[in-house]
Amino acid sequence: MKNRLMTPGPVPVPPDSLLAMAQPMMHHRTEKFEKVMSEIPDALKYVFKTKNDVMLLTSSSTGAMESAIVNLLSPEDRALVIGGGKFGERWAELCKAYNVDFDFIDVEWGKPVDLDTVHKKLSSGKKYKCVYGTLCETSTGVTHDIKGLGEIVSGKALLVVDAVSGLGAVDLQTDDWHVDVVVSGSQKGLMTPPGLAFISLSDPAWEAVDSARLPRYYFDLRKAKKAMLVNQTPFTCSISLILALHESLNIIRKEGIENVLARHARLAEATRAGVKALGLSLFASAPSNAVTAVKVPEGIDCKKLVKTIEEKYGITFAGGQDKLTGKIFRIAHLGYVDDLDIISAISALEMALINLGFDITPGVGIKACEQVLISEKI
Ligand SMILES: *Cc1c(COP(=O)(O)O)cnc(C)c1O
Repeated sequence: MKNRLMTPGPVPVPPDSLLAMAQPMMHHRTEKFEKVMSEIPDALKYVFKTKNDVMLLTSSSTGAMESAIVNLLSPEDRALVIGGGKFGERWAELCKAYNVDFDFIDVEWGKPVDLDTVHKKLSSGKKYKCVYGTLCETSTGVTHDIKGLGEIVSGKALLVVDAVSGLGAVDLQTDDWHVDVVVSGSQKGLMTPPGLAFISLSDPAWEAVDSARLPRYYFDLRKAKKAMLVNQTPFTCSISLILALHESLNIIRKEGIENVLARHARLAEATRAGVKALGLSLFASAPSNAVTAVKVPEGIDCKKLVKTIEEKYGITFAGGQDKLTGKIFRIAHLGYVDDLDIISAISALEMALINLGFDITPGVGIKACEQVLISEKI
């Protein structure tokens, strides 16, 4: 049986990237490695849509989130955190861990943040150093309006966006939308195994880095920048992962970032059409092009459904997290994914539901799915 990974991280890795990791180990303090490293910053800038430098960190994406706390804030600063899911809440947990005062905008899970609420907070007379938000809230499948957020926050505070799952799947125009700091990771839209994190910072954000007084050592971005300027990393990096990343970034550049985004939009639309045709409903009111969150229909055991799809058809979906456990399942269409992956996913979902006694006609889901894929294929 073939396995298809359709989770919102890790995602499938293209064969060329896997092969890059299989070469004999090289040392990182060598010209050969520096040659690879020298090509990564520009390739990342292209995907981030920014002129700012993008730092590479050896950690999972949460390391870049932590670096966006310790490098930007001082003990007397206040932050504004936008909730709405597990990852929005992670910003709040990080503030707590470092004893940073913050106000929390408690967004209902499944909904995007209301921009008026953010605007009111920012005009309330309180001074916020940073606003922390999320592009694609992976736990709920929601896309937040980062362009709108940028308009509101610009000039008032630094806007920091978790684009871990959104980058390369949902449009993010870092510079044009006035996003100061963007964090991401390797194992989502960048089609690389887990273990690398990225962060881009605007000039005002770098000024904050220079004056911030929270404790930092491993994630001190001044160290990362200094090393980056000579195509290095401050500590031993995940050399093999960087070789894979280099390959995956080449693949993205060859397809073209706008084509990559358009492909994600098509595949997401086809997924949504397939799911709806099966009589299921979406959890997110502003659904993301990276992952589709589906409400578990009445009478179906979510765990059993996900397990059946995995065991019978080799396709891995994600269940819900935290309070959404058992209530939703998530189909990722993120990264190295094509039309037939989506058809397979909807087909497996359809067959598993029928297996579990759900009353649907075989083929209704994939029919709707194909209709989108046929009509939108360029
Ligand atoms: C996956 C994810 C993270 C966390 O990434 P790790 O690599 O597990 O640290 C953070 N935010 C979002 C939106 C994610 O999807």
